[in-house]
Amino acid sequence: MGRVGERAVVLGAGMAGLLAARVLAGAYDQVTIVERDEPPEPGRPRKGVPQGRHAHMLMPRGQEILRGLFPGLEDELIDAGAVVADPSTEHRFNLGGHALCRVPRSDRAVQASRPLLEGAVRERVQALDGVVFVHGCDAVGLVAPDPRRVTGVRIMRRVPGSAEEELPADLVVDATGRAARTRLWLESLGYDPAPREEIEVGVAYASRPVRLPLGSPPDKAVVVGPGPGRPRGMALIAIEGDRHLLTVAGLDKGHRPPTDPEGFLAYMEGLAPPDVARAVRAAEPLGEISAHRYPSDLRHRYERLRRFPAGLLVTGDALCSFNPIYAQGMTVACLEAQVLARCLEASGARDLTRRYFRAVARALDVPWRMAVAADLSMPEVPGRRSPAIRLLNAYVGRVQAAAARDPEIAGRLVRVIGLLDPPTALMRPSVLAAACAVRRTGEALPGTTPHPETASDHHFTVGTEQGVQR
Ligand SMILES: Cc1cc2nc3c(=O)[nH]c(=O)nc-3n(C[C@H](O)[C@H](O)[C@H](O)COP(=O)(O)OP(=O)(O)OC[C@H]3O[C@@H](n4cnc5c(N)ncnc54)[C@H](O)[C@@H]3O)c2cc1C
Repeated sequence: MGRVGERAVVLGAGMAGLLAARVLAGAYDQVTIVERDEPPEPGRPRKGVPQGRHAHMLMPRGQEILRGLFPGLEDELIDAGAVVADPSTEHRFNLGGHALCRVPRSDRAVQASRPLLEGAVRERVQALDGVVFVHGCDAVGLVAPDPRRVTGVRIMRRVPGSAEEELPADLVVDATGRAARTRLWLESLGYDPAPREEIEVGVAYASRPVRLPLGSPPDKAVVVGPGPGRPRGMALIAIEGDRHLLTVAGLDKGHRPPTDPEGFLAYMEGLAPPDVARAVRAAEPLGEISAHRYPSDLRHRYERLRRFPAGLLVTGDALCSFNPIYAQGMTVACLEAQVLARCLEASGARDLTRRYFRAVARALDVPWRMAVAADLSMPEVPGRRSPAIRLLNAYVGRVQAAAARDPEIAGRLVRVIGLLDPPTALMRPSVLAAACAVRRTGEALPGTTPHPETASDHHFTVGTEQGVQR
């Protein structure tokens, strides 16, 4: 990539900030990353990323993009203890009450805790020419003497007696996560409030690392999705250190997972396949049970503002955050980094803001609609359901049922969920025929082994429903 400018500043060193910095390092002489947290101990969760204590799956599309951005990263992760899984034989999915067929796949999955993955990416970014980290420092506002252009950021070190400082920049990228303040900063510069879409899902998480006993089921990932009538899910993921991370999650309204050891296990037992439940019951706990609450899917529509200052971009959860149950966030951060790279390559800094927000909105549309539609398939989640979304959700329920007896359908579904293929891949004649052949949705099919509690019809959906406009 050619040189675009002198100085870029990235706010936040989570996955989205690190990926943006990786891309910017090829285009700006200096890239400064401002991060509130002190440098973390290797492999340890940190305060600014509390979700790091919970299971984090990287979708195949995210894995593909990471490989391109950081050649050899997977091998470094494996050297650091990450688990290599063959998804065709070592991943087990139950969606909408249907145990999906195992799907022949040629790729491997490299599984790690969020801290290990983030740490490996951070090391790679740190080693890039021109990249500087400023830790223990809050971004507190934008510098824009002329509100039409952002020319830097105001920062405050987390040291008693510090005063505000200004960091000049040709480009500022906000990657400070869900609580990002760009919207407020823009309003204080006289811009209209950006439209937002929000679906109030209210999901509660509880997680604990465990060591399974010898002779446990060989699966390296067991995922049971939520669905209408049973808005709960679980994931048991093999990670570094001969550990599994057990995460359970449910809608706050009546399905919040307990955080006492017995209640936590009992909740898991209501979801896991029986052999997995037995293994987890006999497992050695390796840490505390951590809880997390996620209030809403939230998408900021900056591309819809008539006016927006040059020199400012937003990425990651700061732009759009999804119900974590669908494991899309890190992959979407990868997609956004890819969009940024393409925008810089195409025309450098010229009209970058407008081009970026438009292109990134297109990239976000599919994962956002998938997450929102899946959330709206649960009656407990407030929001308008159009006839189109009801139809699509019913259709996806049938595809899930078909995927429980037909590996080809399961393969197509897994590729769509993994963000490798667009949802239209589920409209191909072979999938339509298989879905139509399914008896009424909700019925378990011959050859499936749904757990009694997981026999509701659909969970992972595609659709076009809009969130609530704010
Ligand atoms: C419980 C849970 C489970 C999840 N599971 C998955 C999963 O399985 N798969 C998946 O792909 N995604 C998952 N996600 C989503 C994923 O964690 C995020 O979408 C992804 O990491 C991108 O986050 P981010 O970098 O935009 O923000 P964050 O990870 O929130 O990082 C923001 C960074 O900015 C820093 N910061 C904040 N404010 C300031 C400031 N003012 N100044 C300086 N620094 C600041 C923070 O310290 C932090 O380092 C999950 C999320 C949750 C909550």
